Amino acid sequence: MATYHKILVAVDLSNESDVVLRKAQLIAGPDADIHLVYVQEPMDNVYVGIVPQSAAFSGLGDLEAQLGEELKQKLTVLGDKFSIAAENQHILNGSPAHEIHHFAKSYEVELIVIGTHGQKGLQLLLGSTANAVLHGAGCDVLSVRIGAA
Ligand code: AMP
Repeated sequence: MATYHKILVAVDLSNESDVVLRKAQLIAGPDADIHLVYVQEPMDNVYVGIVPQSAAFSGLGDLEAQLGEELKQKLTVLGDKFSIAAENQHILNGSPAHEIHHFAKSYEVELIVIGTHGQKGLQLLLGSTANAVLHGAGCDVLSVRIGAA
């Protein structure tokens, strides 16, 4: 059976990340290179349209940098727990699906592993990160069902 040698595991740093990473390690070949990826979204992406720009944007740079440090620490804890080398732990900036596609292409990743929740109602209409990653991926994508009974 063919095994994957280069795998990207997308994590949102919630407690559910363990499930996704554990599954990736289960299917990885013994010499597989696993890259752990978290994408930090710019805060102005999140707040634009909710609060007036002047109020929303002032001081966001500092806050974003501080948040980036805390996220890096969380990623390190997760990576160390699963023995992922520090150089394979990545924090990217931008929109998750776009950055994951870009990373997968430039690192010639063979498999993207991502978590997925059972979508229903409004979520189904809006789509999820997993859906966005699946559409447009240039390699295989494994969506790991999270929170299934
Ligand atoms: P969601 O559909 O946003 O609930 O996220 C489901 C899965 O998408 C998570 O379990 C992660 O695998 C991935 N994901 C969500 N947000 C991010 C992020 N900011 N960076 C990397 N992966 C993410």
